[in-house]
Amino acid sequence: MPSGGLAYSLGYCYTKKAKSAVSQRWECDQRGSQKCRAIATTDLELTVMKSVTEHTHAADMFKGKT
Ligand SMILES: [Zn+2]
Repeated sequence: MPSGGLAYSLGYCYTKKAKSAVSQRWECDQRGSQKCRAIATTDLELTVMKSVTEHTHAADMFKGKT
C-alpha cells in the first residue's frame, strides 16, 4: 500500500481525510469531479477497508490516464 495520503481499494483511489487513535477515514478521490460520496475506513496500517459506501462512477482502473 503506498504512503503519502492515498489508498487504493478495488480500483478506487482515496484521499486521507481524518485519523484517529485506531483508524483512518478516507474519501474517494473523485469526490470533487464526480460528486462521489464514497467513504472508506481502515486501521492505521491500511490493512482493513470497511464501511465502504457506493461510488457514483466506475473504478479508476477502468479509465485511462490523461
Ligand atoms: Zn468514488
